[in-house]
Amino acid sequence: MLSTAPQVVRSAARLLLDSLLPPQCLACNAVVAAPGSLCADCFGRVDFIAPPLCERCGTPFEGAVIDDLVCGACLKDPPAFSRARAAFVYAEDSRALVLKLKHGDRTDAAVHLARWLQRAGAELVASCDVMVPVPLHRWRLLMRTYNQAALLANALGRLAGKPVAPDALVRTRSTPSQGKLHRNERQRNVARAFAVKSPNAIAGRRVLLIDDVLTSGATANACSRALLEAGAREVDVLVLARVAKPA
Ligand SMILES: [Zn+2]
Ligand SMILES: [Zn+2]
Repeated sequence: MLSTAPQVVRSAARLLLDSLLPPQCLACNAVVAAPGSLCADCFGRVDFIAPPLCERCGTPFEGAVIDDLVCGACLKDPPAFSRARAAFVYAEDSRALVLKLKHGDRTDAAVHLARWLQRAGAELVASCDVMVPVPLHRWRLLMRTYNQAALLANALGRLAGKPVAPDALVRTRSTPSQGKLHRNERQRNVARAFAVKSPNAIAGRRVLLIDDVLTSGATANACSRALLEAGAREVDVLVLARVAKPA
């Protein structure tokens, strides 16, 4: 992660300011009782994911489910990772939480959001040996300054007492923004876009891949494949928000 002197000064100023001002809602700037919480309005709008959900990809099921089930999409085309879990549904109302982190105006939010990750992925966190963030390509890192996945992974690693290998995975080529692409195009777009830079941190270990948003799963799959090829024993995926596909 890049860290320049003005940023350090800014975050120090931010810390000082935070200690003087009343705590603000993580999503909007309304005053709340406790730091790292949501105001009542925002809480009502965030769709937290709870069981029943697909054992593999974590997609929430609508209605009652009799057994532990795997969704149709995972049966048809099993993902490269073992399990994926997300804290909440990525929708218009919850985007603000992810964007805050993305644009770095509330990087302190990562510390609080890491608790949501831990709750949503308790089993995955407990069974992992090392956490690895999905990397940003260098020029995006330069433009955005923060890799939100790395911020989350570092905060979660500290919280859970697990090692983080922030640079284990690298992007080998820049991929066009995924936003406007269809599922197949996304898969083509990210295939072979990742490589493991430090296989020693990965080989024989259970890896927990961390990202902010899971959309088609193409990025998570490409990263998982690279990690498994480098000798990872297993790869799970934990994200803040996922697009909910009808299961
Ligand atoms: Zn709010
Ligand atoms: Zn599934």
